[in-house]
Amino acid sequence: MNRISVMKPWLGTAESEALAEVVASGWVAQGPRTAAFEEAFAQHQHVRHAVAASSCTTALQLALIVAGVKSGDDVVVPSFSFIATANAPTYLGARPVFADVESATGNVTADAVERVLTNKTTAIIAVDQGGMPLDLEPLRRMCDERGIALVEDAACAAGSTYMGAPVGGGADVSAWSFHPRKLLTTGEGGMLTTNNPDWASRARRLREHAMDVSAAERHGSTLAPQEHYGEVGYNFRMTDLQAAVGLVQLAKLDEMVQRRRELASRYRAAFHDVSGLRCAQDPEYGTSNFQSFWIEVLPEFRMDREHLLEKLAADEISARRGIMAAHQQQAYAGHSGISAPLPVTERLTANTLILPLYHELAEHEQDRVISSVLNAGGE
Ligand SMILES: *Cc1c(COP(=O)(O)O)cnc(C)c1O
Repeated sequence: MNRISVMKPWLGTAESEALAEVVASGWVAQGPRTAAFEEAFAQHQHVRHAVAASSCTTALQLALIVAGVKSGDDVVVPSFSFIATANAPTYLGARPVFADVESATGNVTADAVERVLTNKTTAIIAVDQGGMPLDLEPLRRMCDERGIALVEDAACAAGSTYMGAPVGGGADVSAWSFHPRKLLTTGEGGMLTTNNPDWASRARRLREHAMDVSAAERHGSTLAPQEHYGEVGYNFRMTDLQAAVGLVQLAKLDEMVQRRRELASRYRAAFHDVSGLRCAQDPEYGTSNFQSFWIEVLPEFRMDREHLLEKLAADEISARRGIMAAHQQQAYAGHSGISAPLPVTERLTANTLILPLYHELAEHEQDRVISSVLNAGGE
């Protein structure tokens, strides 16, 4: 019996050919393909500016800097997220303050954020967890009223929609991941998007050592203009090797989302009548790309989450514990940013698991996963 993995990127010969072209061109660092990828991504996401970065983590860091977050500030984040969400403000000397999430989507709500605001809060990072779109409008109103920056960690959410439009465009600035665990991959890679032209150009400079003339511009001219460094920047660049793969992947994104949604519906239909299992589902205001298909194992189910994971593993199926809680990790142990209890976060972290879901998952393989879950605790 072959092992079914939890996730597999959808890569093919088109990606290999695109890479070979970049190699043949002699220009492998950030250059024309990165610019083309940025333009195509901005268009796909209905947002004015896209700035490529080395990862979502570095894009989040840039997002907070351009949004004006400084050392000593408080930034509200969900604990229920990959730890990079909490790390981004920490890198800047700001304090991540954890807000709880709602059970239906695993995302922060305006109410939960409001409860943990302090007079030092300058930004919030809201996450589209596992690709599940967050309810942006109430957060948008709250941030506007209080003059707080709204940053969206859309790492998982390329291809998800909110109120009929791609997610991400309604925040002040958003960050995306192209790690192979997400739908669209460039190996490693990330993107920052914003409708603010000043923030976009500052992010563009900061990711490249804060040089005022880009390396691509300098190499494009015989007598290179003198460059200046107005502030301390970073090397958060994407390479043209990655961007070339990204362009091919972006063209396949809509197809990937469609397939994920079909497979997610099959899971939902199969578990519909099982008492004690709750499946991820679209909220009424949007659609998920189902980057992660999670189920919550409730006390009524025949076994707990850990035993179900063991049962799946015994059937050669690789599932994963659900989203982590950053406040339970050593890195944030005893952290003063926990100002409210996080009961939903703790419940979901303990009881959810992620089932295999990826573009090339065959239906007979998915049926094997379904049978394994349905037979759990059978005899
Ligand atoms: C994957 C992920 C990240 C980190 O993305 P990288 O590109 O690996 O830096 C950040 N936030 C969330 C919510 C993620 O799922």
